[in-house]
Amino acid sequence: MLRVGLTGGIGAGKSTVANRLAEHGAVLVDSDRIAREVVEPGTEGLARLVEEFGTEILAADGSLDRPVLAAKAFADDESRHKLNAIVHPLVGARTGELMAAAKPDAIIVHDIPLLVENGLATAYHLVVVVDAPVEVRVRRLVSARGMAEDDARARIRAQAGTEQRRAVADVWLDNGGAEDAVLAEVDALWADRLVPFEANVRLRRPRPPMSPKIAAYDLAWPAQAERVLARVRAAAGELAVRADHIGSTAIPGLPAKDVLDLQLTVSTSDDAETLRELLCDAGFPRLEGGWYDDAQDGGEPWPKCLHVGADPKRPVNLHVRSVETPAWRLALLFRDFLRANPDERDDYRDVKLRLAEAHAADGTVEAYADEKQEWVNGAFGRAEKWAVATGWTP
Ligand code: ADP
Repeated sequence: MLRVGLTGGIGAGKSTVANRLAEHGAVLVDSDRIAREVVEPGTEGLARLVEEFGTEILAADGSLDRPVLAAKAFADDESRHKLNAIVHPLVGARTGELMAAAKPDAIIVHDIPLLVENGLATAYHLVVVVDAPVEVRVRRLVSARGMAEDDARARIRAQAGTEQRRAVADVWLDNGGAEDAVLAEVDALWADRLVPFEANVRLRRPRPPMSPKIAAYDLAWPAQAERVLARVRAAAGELAVRADHIGSTAIPGLPAKDVLDLQLTVSTSDDAETLRELLCDAGFPRLEGGWYDDAQDGGEPWPKCLHVGADPKRPVNLHVRSVETPAWRLALLFRDFLRANPDERDDYRDVKLRLAEAHAADGTVEAYADEKQEWVNGAFGRAEKWAVATGWTP
């Protein structure tokens, strides 16, 4: 199943987007609704709130009197913690139940206002943020939802800001204009990204082969890499020695194929096997067959594992290398050497552009990659000298 986290400031249009995705077939999990359900009359949640805060928090009909609870629970930090300690685990458990009950080919959309505030981005294959300018949101909350203007502004101020949301957004939906405009974007997101993404994860489907095509350096690459690396680290847990952005997209100013190369370093090749299914489920199908790096010591090729990103709109190669071979260190050295030596970077650029042109009709990157490796292997020697001269360590 595919887990999509949907967030955005209040009034930005989360429900509008969520409802459209549900029309396409997404399974909606609504945090606000769950938060109400776990404290309905007759629930364990409500009983525990009464135990903690007294029967004053009950309305005449036995339901929770939210304003009274809020006044008590937000009076001081300790009370707020007590409220959270009761409600959060219940919401978490119910959310987990709903997700586990979904079919294996479900696309789950979790509408979760506090995704950013609670640091939950890595729990999802994809994070979608809906945004609109503050003034537009205030106007909508006042006119469409009948909220008092001061109340709307206070709620907006209490939430994460636009910049914090940008940092976790794989998809940014601008809903500052007409509703039809954002809905058209949602339709395209569903058909072109979420549907194939889900199938790629479930079927462990690799990226289709294509000819090498070099793109101009993109200033967005480092942040995109960081978002994907955060997921890799979360999936690998303690088995990750480290996880880094490597390859050409990690070199500022270098044109490159629009494929992020990421490296997960592990202690042993057994650990790489242990991680196989975890990485597949996290959205990185394993490419079958043996994968190797050229040995720079003249010995046998150095084995590695290769996973690829299942998101059709964000191609990723995830190299899983164990410290049992020197390849992980070399990948980091090569990156840092090119970052520090613009002449070498520009030489590499020229080689890439020439080979990409020569292989533009190949239909695969294999010959391009093999021929490029000759320059790379030569550069490793110069990089090692640079490492000695500068005292570089990984
Ligand atoms: P959220 O769930 O993020 O708080 P909603 O989806 O409920 O936001 O949207 C807030 C209000 O604004 C709703 O009444 C909704 O119908 C309305 N709305 C959403 N998008 C637009 C838009 N593009 N133009 C005008 N009104 C909108």
